[in-house]
Amino acid sequence: MSKKILSTPQTDDLKERVNSEGTKFKRSSNENSYLGVFEKVENAIERAMYAQKQLSLFYTKEDRERLVSSIREATLENKETLSKLILEETQMGRYEDKVLKHELAAKYTPGTEDLTTTAWSGDEGLTVVEMSPYGVIGAVTPSTNPTETVICNSIGMIAAGNAVVFNGHPGAKKCVAFAVDMINRAIIASGGPENLATTVKNPTMESLNTIMKHPSIKLLCGTGGPGLIKTLLNSGKKAIGAGAGNPPVIVDDTADIENAAKNIIEGCSFDNNLPCIAEKEVFVFESVANDLIYHMLQNDAVIINKNQVSSLVNLVLQKTEQKNSNNDINQEYLINKKWVGKDAKLFLDEIDVEAPETVKCILCEVDANHPFVMTELMMPILAIVRVNDIDEAIKYAKIAEQGKKHSAYIYSRNIDNLNRFEKEIDTTIFVKNSKSFAGVGFGAEGFTTFTIAGPTGEGITSAKNFTRQRRCVLVN
Ligand code: NAD
Repeated sequence: MSKKILSTPQTDDLKERVNSEGTKFKRSSNENSYLGVFEKVENAIERAMYAQKQLSLFYTKEDRERLVSSIREATLENKETLSKLILEETQMGRYEDKVLKHELAAKYTPGTEDLTTTAWSGDEGLTVVEMSPYGVIGAVTPSTNPTETVICNSIGMIAAGNAVVFNGHPGAKKCVAFAVDMINRAIIASGGPENLATTVKNPTMESLNTIMKHPSIKLLCGTGGPGLIKTLLNSGKKAIGAGAGNPPVIVDDTADIENAAKNIIEGCSFDNNLPCIAEKEVFVFESVANDLIYHMLQNDAVIINKNQVSSLVNLVLQKTEQKNSNNDINQEYLINKKWVGKDAKLFLDEIDVEAPETVKCILCEVDANHPFVMTELMMPILAIVRVNDIDEAIKYAKIAEQGKKHSAYIYSRNIDNLNRFEKEIDTTIFVKNSKSFAGVGFGAEGFTTFTIAGPTGEGITSAKNFTRQRRCVLVN
């Protein structure tokens, strides 16, 4: 693609000034072999600041669209490499699903078309409200969608005119570095400035603290578990927080059971249940439960007995006891991270259950308060709970979702049940009669995101969420 930077005589001056400032950021040849990846987080921030200044002074919205298009192209070209790198480094998930996730991020993350201007014109003049960039955004990414989130965030944040400094999960730092390098090369190839996306080579809590405290970083965006969201919200800065989920599914006695079984297994086993939106537990009406389980078994699932469920609990969960402020003892289960995102067959081998190589999901019939219902496992283990009616189903689904306001699903042809569950569970994503991924535009209408901001309310984030509103008024 040819370089096409629009500049006017007035901006030429500025361009020279900014370019001469820029020489102090010249890369030394031995600093890093990856573009945008720095030993010191301070350098990652400063260079992103410089890149953002260039972006805001010399590039139009049309230019920004060209830059994000090249990120999309690069992602599609590298989707296999990115997926292999994640698997090698994190040892979690399924290769073919990761390829799909990169496709989704590349094709369906909104770009500049997401930005709108509101205007009022009349006898007294003209007032416009524009969506303007924050500047440099500090973004934290999870180990479960490491490069998908970096790509999705970069497209939205750069389309909105920002630069972004990533503090990735330490367990996925190599693939994050690869993605940041890929993004920089794509941007440079289409005439954009280097370092619109940067990262630190070894992300730590200390590097995150530097990002959070830096005076030029006005917006933080974090995708991960509850610890991360708490840290960002305590930073004293504006934060977009995309937190944990534990999505329940209801199947009632009017549902198309074959469709429900197929979709639930596909959603639950996608990338070995790593996605925060993946189906985690099912509340099924007693009258159709056997039928649902029968059809799930036709879709690469196996069911295990009570003793085997106990063995599985011991394998993947660790019980802890903690005193709350009233001195009551709360029992909590911590997941054994070693098993997150592993293939179903590996669990079954470990607890001596024979199963075909093709098995994708392990069904466990349990009570509503079982730890497999109440814990976000991120493993291809699906808790199935029998219920008598919709009251019981909704009651237990709400308890399992724990007010995270993340995602929930229902299979039903009963309008009252569909409406009631949607209102009562009140989640950011609510899908009727299809799998979780429909909620992020896969096989359904609507755009995609890898940052679902339930706790802070932005929801399915996109470029517009990475902007601040600016009102510009012309009188008469
Ligand atoms: P994680 O919380 O362990 O890590 C996420 C990121 O936060 C990492 O970069 C990590 O280094 C950092 N981090 C962890 N604890 C922190 C703390 N106390 N303070 C500051 N930073 C901290 O999560 P993970 O295992 O990498 O990812 C899985 C979690 O993320 C799940 O809970 C999943 O539901 C959630 N998630 C949510 C979304 C969403 O869009 N809502 C998307 C993907 C994953």
